[in-house]
Amino acid sequence: MAKVSIGLRGWRFEEDEIFTDDEELKPLDEIPEDPRERLLRLVGLVEEPCDVCYLDYGEDEIHRCNEAEIVYGEPDGEVLLCPEHERELLYWFREAGGSDHKGSVEFADRFHEWVAAGNEAPEGYGSVEHVEEDPDGLPDLPDQQEVQDRLEEGFDGDRIDILELAGEEDPEREELTEADLTESDLDLSTDYPSDR
Ligand SMILES: [Zn+2]
Repeated sequence: MAKVSIGLRGWRFEEDEIFTDDEELKPLDEIPEDPRERLLRLVGLVEEPCDVCYLDYGEDEIHRCNEAEIVYGEPDGEVLLCPEHERELLYWFREAGGSDHKGSVEFADRFHEWVAAGNEAPEGYGSVEHVEEDPDGLPDLPDQQEVQDRLEEGFDGDRIDILELAGEEDPEREELTEADLTESDLDLSTDYPSDR
C-alpha cells in the first residue's frame, strides 16, 4: 500500500489507514493508534518554526526563523526542520551518534543539545545526496477544525474514548494495539533518515 506524508515531509502514513477510498480523512476512531497519534500531533506542528532556526534566533527574533517543512522522530519528541537545516539532522543522525536515539522521545532533546552546543554539519555535507521531494506533492493536512469535528462526532456516537486518545490503554484494543506497535517498530526507518 502507498505511503504518504501529509502537511510536513518525514512522517509517513499508510494511505489506507487514514484515508477512505474517496480520499477523505477517516473518522479518528477508525484510524489505528500510532498513525492517529501522529496525525493529531501534526495538526499542532504545521506553521511551527524550524528547531535549528529557533535555537539560532530564539523567541525574540522568531520572525527570522523558517517555517518547518520536515518532521523526524516520535510524537512529543519530534524534530522540526526547514530544508536548509535538514543536513544538520542528517549529519547528527548518521555521524554523531543520533541514530542511538531512534524510536525514543529523547531523540529531539539530544539533537537540540547537540545543536545548542554549537555543532553543525561540515560544509557541503548532504549537498550531493540530497534529493528534494516535491513539497507541493504532499496532500494537505486536514485542518484543525476538521479534526475537531471528528473528535466531536466521536463524542456524539460515544465511540471515542478520550482517555485512549490521551494515551491510556483500552483493553479491548490491546490486541490491535500490539499489532500496530510491532508493525511500526519494523517500519521505523520511514520516520528517520536512512542509515546509508
Ligand atoms: Zn532552519
